[in-house]
Amino acid sequence: MTVVNAQSIDEALHALAELPEPRLVAGGTDMMVEVNFGRHKPGDVVSLRQVRELRSWHRNDDGSIFIGSGLPYKVMEEGELAMMFPALAQAARTVGSPQIRAAGTLGGNLGTCSPAGDGLPVLAALDAEVHLRSLSGERRVPFSQFMTGVKKNVARSDELITGVTIPMTVGFQGYAKVGVRNAMVIAIASACFVHDESSNSVRLALGAVAPTIVRCTEAETYLDGVLAKATPITSHELDRFKELAASAARPITDHRSTADYRRHAVTILAKRFAERAFNVV
Ligand SMILES: Cc1cc2nc3c(=O)[nH]c(=O)nc-3n(C[C@H](O)[C@H](O)[C@H](O)COP(=O)(O)OP(=O)(O)OC[C@H]3O[C@@H](n4cnc5c(N)ncnc54)[C@H](O)[C@@H]3O)c2cc1C
Repeated sequence: MTVVNAQSIDEALHALAELPEPRLVAGGTDMMVEVNFGRHKPGDVVSLRQVRELRSWHRNDDGSIFIGSGLPYKVMEEGELAMMFPALAQAARTVGSPQIRAAGTLGGNLGTCSPAGDGLPVLAALDAEVHLRSLSGERRVPFSQFMTGVKKNVARSDELITGVTIPMTVGFQGYAKVGVRNAMVIAIASACFVHDESSNSVRLALGAVAPTIVRCTEAETYLDGVLAKATPITSHELDRFKELAASAARPITDHRSTADYRRHAVTILAKRFAERAFNVV
């Protein structure tokens, strides 16, 4: 096995293009589980741990924020990033244990593309774009077009996820997940809710209740209409919102939960977020 300890994005891209069976590894918290369970036998490994360009974030000229794919969750949990994106901080705090959060990255969450990945509903609700780079150039894919199925995405094998760009949004945002216990748990259902004050519109994305992360567009449009009336939300309107949110889910029954429970969990998450964000009578 060849192990390339890439020092730059360029070096990683050349290794990806030239090695016969390359596999990228960032924090290794997903990949090593696959290796330990014998589900994956790496051919060649391209480690991104020492690529400094991937392990940072910055503000773009238009005010949006670029987060490098190799930035560990622990950096998103507090500080400036957490102030700008509270939902991302809340999601980061729910990932595994401190050890997992010190090693695990958004790039790895995107690379694995599990419907239960905690970073993904946040990227969906914040309208993030994923940056993919290969030796032939860079392309930016809206998250809504990035994930195509369970553990499937549009990245080609010669492409590296360099990071995500997230537009700044002013207004309430939150992330929550339902699991069988309070910590170290994979989501049974998860949701990210964002209120964009500039357009007085909401976004709601769900995780772990469909093959991909889903946006609840009908529920969003409905609540936008309610907000446009500029009167407190009634309990009847709240009920309608949560039911529309649940109708966007396509849950399955598996070893973690039942489809019915997942649908119910979505109604609770949607209702709680609307209650936290707005005046409900
Ligand atoms: C004990 C434990 C608890 C966990 N709990 C949670 C949890 O609560 N929530 C959650 O969402 N996840 C959880 N996970 C899964 C994992 O920690 C996350 O998915 C994490 O984001 C993976 O990041 P990583 O850098 O470790 O990925 P890696 O394991 O390094 O990589 C994962 C996949 O992405 C690919 N990849 C990595 N970086 C890139 C890149 N830059 N470009 C293209 N492809 C790339 C790799 O080739 C691999 O296929 C847990 C894992 C463990 C072991």
